[in-house]
Amino acid sequence: MLRLALQSKGRLNEESLALLSEIGIKIDDSKRKFLTKSSSFPIEVLYLRDDDIPQVVFAGTSQLGIVGLNEVEEKGFKVKVISKLGFGGCRISLAIPKGEEYDGPQWFNGKTIATSYPNILKKYLKKNNISARIEVITGSVEIAPAAGISDAIFDIVSSGGTLVSNGLKEVERVFESEAVLIGNGNFSPEEKENLDEMLFRIESVKASRGKQYILMNLPQKSIDKALEILPSMRSPTVLPLAASGWCSLHSVVDKKDLWEKIKALKAIGAEGILVLGVDKIIA
Ligand code: ATP
Ligand code: MG
Repeated sequence: MLRLALQSKGRLNEESLALLSEIGIKIDDSKRKFLTKSSSFPIEVLYLRDDDIPQVVFAGTSQLGIVGLNEVEEKGFKVKVISKLGFGGCRISLAIPKGEEYDGPQWFNGKTIATSYPNILKKYLKKNNISARIEVITGSVEIAPAAGISDAIFDIVSSGGTLVSNGLKEVERVFESEAVLIGNGNFSPEEKENLDEMLFRIESVKASRGKQYILMNLPQKSIDKALEILPSMRSPTVLPLAASGWCSLHSVVDKKDLWEKIKALKAIGAEGILVLGVDKIIA
């Protein structure tokens, strides 16, 4: 049976379980054990600290895992990134005290940098020909400069709020990360089939993110103009209405463009516009 390693608690736990639920994999979270079998899909979930996930997948204790790409890169185990999952987005950046004048990566020459990601940092420093000392600390890296432990930090940033409140400024964005599904390639034919089914479902959930379903009544004469405004997956669906000269038009739009599109559609006579959420898109 497929086994999937998930973060037991922390930033990726909830969204990992939410994704599983969206793809029809029910995990009984109420009596959570170290290893839990799904009641609706042939898979079991192994709860671990995120640091350990790349290694257990590499070693084969679990064939699959959901973890931040940052951990995969830092730990360096040869596992395959099967799918990028679109949540847990963050970056690992270099930051320095905000009063410092920054003139480019060479600023770091001869400096001490505190981090929990020494391997990713080493690679960056080498690539940029910088010689700096790395001070490895786990947790609360952002206080290192004020505590006199380092001149700079290399740490995870998402909004940047933590940096600002510690008197730091982000100067180099080095590594972009998000949650990924990783695997070790050791699947029986049956497990491979189940993995493919899982991936198919994940793709349909990913495809629906940021999309909305829009339907409206439209004067028939405006159809051509509406087609220009709404390039849909194939083309928008046009249905006749009982009132002559009118039709009902259905389409899928990107959430980010929604209000622009609505404005343009109203301008060509669209009425009774309905906007609905999209759960899954099956290509
Ligand atoms: P564990 O106890 O499992 O070792 P942790 O404390 O190492 O947990 P979390 O802080 O829960 O890890 O973060 C897990 C992952 O979430 C990170 O490795 C990263 O990929 C992602 N992430 C997204 N945004 C942030 C953020 N602002 N700070 C830290 N991690 C983030
Ligand atoms: Mg961790």
